[in-house]
Amino acid sequence: MKKITQELIDRFYDLLSPCRLCPRNCGVDRINGELGNCGAGLEVKVASYHQHFGEEPPLVGRSGSGTIFFSHCNLHCVFCQNYEISQLGQGQRVSLEELAQYMLDLQNSGCHNINLVTPTPWVPQIVSGLKIAQERGLHIPVVYNCGGYEAVSTLKLLDGIIDIYMPDIKYSDDQCAEKYSKVKNYWSVVRSALKEMYYQVGNLKLSRGIAASGLLIRHLVLPNQLAGTKECFKFIAENLSIKIVVNVMAQYYPTFNAHKYPEINRRITLSEYRAAIDILKSYGLDAGFQQTIDTLYRKAIPEWGEWS
Ligand code: SF4
Repeated sequence: MKKITQELIDRFYDLLSPCRLCPRNCGVDRINGELGNCGAGLEVKVASYHQHFGEEPPLVGRSGSGTIFFSHCNLHCVFCQNYEISQLGQGQRVSLEELAQYMLDLQNSGCHNINLVTPTPWVPQIVSGLKIAQERGLHIPVVYNCGGYEAVSTLKLLDGIIDIYMPDIKYSDDQCAEKYSKVKNYWSVVRSALKEMYYQVGNLKLSRGIAASGLLIRHLVLPNQLAGTKECFKFIAENLSIKIVVNVMAQYYPTFNAHKYPEINRRITLSEYRAAIDILKSYGLDAGFQQTIDTLYRKAIPEWGEWS
């Protein structure tokens, strides 16, 4: 991580008033107490922080990923598995000092990285916390774990601060994105965001089996091909690299408001998951890993392919 200066932090905070931190461009004045479409204000809110062993193996290693779950989200997925935190705003306001201390506590616990979950609405506060932690010895990689709906202008300011980008690529169809995540232009936004992330960090690099830097993309298979899997993988293969690690996730289940949409009110089938893997392979994107088909109906156990 490069040295974070006060000047850089000031540039991040400028983005909060009017808020244009993410592509929703709400324009609310978060510095003076207004809340945006995401529900976020000025003081950062954290739902929990802990050693996490359920993430991808190169993040988890032996000692876990140092995960910090932030409250609120700039997407409003009707099937969100963390909806209490992302949509209902569960969490507590914490000071920047406390946030920095969480990071240092996670590092001191042996975690291999700081895994920022849903960081998008809180980038200025997170970078401020990172600055404090950096001055007190934080040195492990920082993971930006997001939904893919990111402003390139904000990402550019993060260049050199984020070691590992771990975005979703949720949909390739804007109508689906609007219906299920309440955004109008997801497909064009996520493509630009992924290009910028890849430009900054490149392919995933491991050091003794642990992720050190790079891009790792998640794709959650939805029922009835509603995630637009084929176009997502085509874009990655043709515009980024076939060496990109893609985690094809099978664990979709209908939660939160998914029951209001009959077409997504079920788990995916085995054949739907296999079809997604076949598409992945057809584009040569099998450098990474996939979850075993068993994970459709029981706890996720990632199965790793060959690593280069
Ligand atoms: S971060 Fe939140 S307040 Fe700012 S533009 Fe995005 S949705 Fe709006």
